[in-house]
Amino acid sequence: MPENIEEYILKVENLNVWFPIHSGIFSKIVGHVKAVNGASLQIKKGETLGLVGESGCGKTTLGRAILGLESTYAGKIFFEKHLIASQDEDYDRNVAAKHIQMIFQDPFASLNPRKTILEIISEGLIQHNRIKKSPEEDVGFWLEEVGLIPSMMNRFPHEFSGGQRQRICIARSISMQPDLLVCDESVSALDVSVQAQVINLLMDLQKKYQFSYLFISHDLSVVRHISDRIAVMYLGNVVEVGDSEKILDSPQHPYTEALVSAIPVPLEEKKDRIVLKGEVPSPASPPSGCAFHTRCRDKMKRCMSDKPTLKPFAGRNVACWLHEKN
Ligand code: SF4
Repeated sequence: MPENIEEYILKVENLNVWFPIHSGIFSKIVGHVKAVNGASLQIKKGETLGLVGESGCGKTTLGRAILGLESTYAGKIFFEKHLIASQDEDYDRNVAAKHIQMIFQDPFASLNPRKTILEIISEGLIQHNRIKKSPEEDVGFWLEEVGLIPSMMNRFPHEFSGGQRQRICIARSISMQPDLLVCDESVSALDVSVQAQVINLLMDLQKKYQFSYLFISHDLSVVRHISDRIAVMYLGNVVEVGDSEKILDSPQHPYTEALVSAIPVPLEEKKDRIVLKGEVPSPASPPSGCAFHTRCRDKMKRCMSDKPTLKPFAGRNVACWLHEKN
């Protein structure tokens, strides 16, 4: 069991989620797509950890691994004191199902179009023996909690707007009374005004029910509003993690610096934007040393051969040789 586990609801340790690449008539494994490649992070009880990075950096795969939806190649995930993912067979498969829920990006795709909202929300409650009064009363209660009218429960998903559908997904997830909610790009598909309403709803629900969030997004300007701490991911690894204010006010990793410089700000506060050159390298053959060296304007000789790990610096943890003496 890791140290200080009582402080954290979730702890991810050196996690690798690799997908095999098959080739030839015998479908031999010729390599791996290293979607998550040695990532570590922790989430405290009742906090929101924002997980940001460009698309393809592995953040969704990391979220899915936490829920047990992806097999791990190496590393461990703990929920409280329970080991919930590892390569050994001794981990507890039921803990994630009981305590962790996910809200996906596309609410329409995650709601069965043939079922009414009553059927969709009550399904999990019935399966896990969580009906308190009756399916109708319980579902009505959770719909009200997310700002919808209980009488809507007999309608089908296509009768709702995008924002309402996301509220239904939130109602379905919180009705299971989770301790941790993984929100995977949960507001990205919504209009900006609806995004703000849904973020405010998530924050209000957190105050009331005290759950933790892992809030995954490619958009730092969305993550800044909801997160207590931010973890920045690049090519399968967490490269900087710390309090939101510190990360946004004084980013220390060159990649975080570029992401922060791209956040839209009022004209009078405008600073120079750092434009990253080149594409994100393929996770099937990540660069040696620091994975960011192919795009980093501050790279040094050692960056090409030695991989930096997360180390405390300026009140956060950062993986960059610029901040290490040896
Ligand atoms: Fe840039 Fe080197 Fe730091 Fe990587 S370790 S971010 S290449 S300076």
